[in-house]
Amino acid sequence: MTEFDYVVIGGGAAGCVIAAGLAQDGRFSVVLIESGARDKSPWIHIPATFFKSMASRDVAAVVSEPEPSLDGNRFAVPQGRVLGGGSSVNGMIYMRGQKRDYDDWAEVHGCTGWAYQDVLPVFKSQEANTRLGDPFHGQSGPLMVADPIYKHPLGAAMIQSAIATGLPANEDFNGAQQEGAGWYQITAHKGRRKSAAVAFLRPALHLETLTVLTGHQAQRLKFKGRRAAGVEVIGPEGPKTILARKEIILTAGSFQSPKLLMHSGIGPAHHLTALGIEVIHDAPEVGANYQDHVGAPVTMRLKHPIGVHGADKGLKALRHGAEYALFRRGLLASNLLESGACADTTGEGRPDVQYNFTPFAPGPPGTPPLDVHAVSVNPMTMRPKSRGRLALKDANPASDLHFTANPLDRIEDLDTLRRGIRLARDIFRQNPLAELVTDEIWPGPDVSSIAGSNTLDPAIR
Ligand SMILES: Cc1cc2nc3c(=O)[nH]c(=O)nc-3n(C[C@H](O)[C@H](O)[C@H](O)COP(=O)(O)OP(=O)(O)OC[C@H]3O[C@@H](n4cnc5c(N)ncnc54)[C@H](O)[C@@H]3O)c2cc1C
Repeated sequence: MTEFDYVVIGGGAAGCVIAAGLAQDGRFSVVLIESGARDKSPWIHIPATFFKSMASRDVAAVVSEPEPSLDGNRFAVPQGRVLGGGSSVNGMIYMRGQKRDYDDWAEVHGCTGWAYQDVLPVFKSQEANTRLGDPFHGQSGPLMVADPIYKHPLGAAMIQSAIATGLPANEDFNGAQQEGAGWYQITAHKGRRKSAAVAFLRPALHLETLTVLTGHQAQRLKFKGRRAAGVEVIGPEGPKTILARKEIILTAGSFQSPKLLMHSGIGPAHHLTALGIEVIHDAPEVGANYQDHVGAPVTMRLKHPIGVHGADKGLKALRHGAEYALFRRGLLASNLLESGACADTTGEGRPDVQYNFTPFAPGPPGTPPLDVHAVSVNPMTMRPKSRGRLALKDANPASDLHFTANPLDRIEDLDTLRRGIRLARDIFRQNPLAELVTDEIWPGPDVSSIAGSNTLDPAIR
């Protein structure tokens, strides 16, 4: 049996920040328990190769049951399973929520301390922004935030065409206004990803107060009465119990945190009882309220071979590899999601659709990009109304979750995507983009996005 002051479960974005901060305090012993491996894979650290991580052991997708709102298709959600969690495999776009999002948490949902004026100083203290400073940005925190050092010319064309539809130009999506089109800032610097493991945890790794256990899967919490006192873990040497003198901090992500709570007896009592799990605390909200941004791209074929298609093959790959190896720049230094837009498609005064602009054609979910030179404008819902649910299949912590995403359950979300696709098509009708593209690959020329059309919804689903 091992004992620490603080036990942090899950070494992802949140866990790395919290474990490092507690260890750096100097007064406490801290253990960080991570089920994935150390972040050694080169695909993690080279920004453009994050797509390769998707097919590696560092990512595990959580796949839903067949979804009625997707015409029976399943909804797959990739999750980082490696030190750094999502921050080691994600798209690196540095985009905070809107001021109203945080204010709603505080005012509508009663989360005292989470209003915008509360979280802004934390964002600033974490950030080392290479271009922007007060009043919205910090420049001396541990997390490098920078403009992309590689900017694909098609990104510039998409930004110009988006502005031609009437969207404002935006040079800071985390500043005074989120609406507009422009280059994103990213959590990568000088051609290297700045994950939470790199930015926050690495500087604390030498401290005697910090122990990091990778390859260790937390199974369930152990209680003394109603107090969580320890955690059962399975590691390379087998099962063991790790005790917490002060606190256990659960940061295993939006799927695995509720799963671990339910296996520990904290969750909807009727559900746990039916599976033979002793109920420690009846908490119907555990596993409820799953929400996710959903998207449906508009993709057009390019007249000339000027997209990034084929950049990872043959002589082109050699050239990009050499440029990156010698100078840490070029296409491999790009997060490939370099630019985008936020649009207020309802006129309610705040953006409801985010667009990622890509110089390639994304394939169907979970598949590689399409084998053509193409560009894509990808609308995604920013405030989805649909809600899904996570439940246990049985009492075995090794079993997968029973996941119902319900992604387009609410008509409002379908409506948002319809408006998003309409504006995406409008962007393609503007120059300079209009002169660069030929036919529409997706949703396709036969699919009408005119209000009332009955061909668009099946395409979205
Ligand atoms: C493909 C992808 C692209 C994304 N793109 C962006 C983007 O461009 N910009 C952006 O801001 N956000 C992006 N995100 C979202 C962002 O990465 C997440 O919001 C963030 O990582 C969540 O942090 P977290 O600490 O809550 O969970 P995670 O980062 O998921 O960390 C949870 C950690 O817990 C570990 N764990 C789980 N269960 C256990 C267990 N039982 N025992 C021990 N360890 C466990 C996991 O292995 C993981 O390391 C993206 C996410 C993905 C997956």
